[in-house]
Amino acid sequence: MVTKEEVEQLMLQYFPSCPLCRANEGYEISGAFKNYVQCRSCGAKWESPDFVKCEELKELQLWEASYDGKGDSLKRKKYSVKFWQDSKAIEKTMKAIEKTKEVKDMESKVELIFRPEMTDRQLQDSIVKSLEEITRWDYGSTLYGKLGSLLSGTSFSEAATIRLLRAIFEQNKILIMQNELIYRGLTQRQKINAKVQ
Ligand SMILES: [Zn+2]
Repeated sequence: MVTKEEVEQLMLQYFPSCPLCRANEGYEISGAFKNYVQCRSCGAKWESPDFVKCEELKELQLWEASYDGKGDSLKRKKYSVKFWQDSKAIEKTMKAIEKTKEVKDMESKVELIFRPEMTDRQLQDSIVKSLEEITRWDYGSTLYGKLGSLLSGTSFSEAATIRLLRAIFEQNKILIMQNELIYRGLTQRQKINAKVQ
């Protein structure tokens, strides 16, 4: 079986400085098979089956991010030694993964105007909210009122367009929600009628 020193030597041969923090303080070796190497400076930990034989290092997977969280997006993924030696590629990949994550988060936050499981009461509350919103975007209360600061820097006509679009948007939401309430009322009545007959 290989010694800890041999494993550290192999890692140092390919990575004199840590792929993530660039420090050259060497690596702590751990694991029953001595297949984990941890940067003594930032704490980032890698795993590779190549350490067991200790002949050639081909791939590394980041097992733990550094203490400050750097590399978290690359965790538990296998990358080639070439990749870990290329700090630009590392930065680029981390940014790309974080970007995809942001988009996914945003997509999961999309709010529907209403959901079928909403109760009539919730729909009515939502309609009231939209009505309030329309009033807020109303001419007098926006240009000179509390929302005035939000529109500062926009021209008069731009501000007027924004207000108008906001009001139309809220108005459409109200129509959609009212339609749902009417539809529910009608199907309810149909059911009652069917029972009576
Ligand atoms: Zn490090």
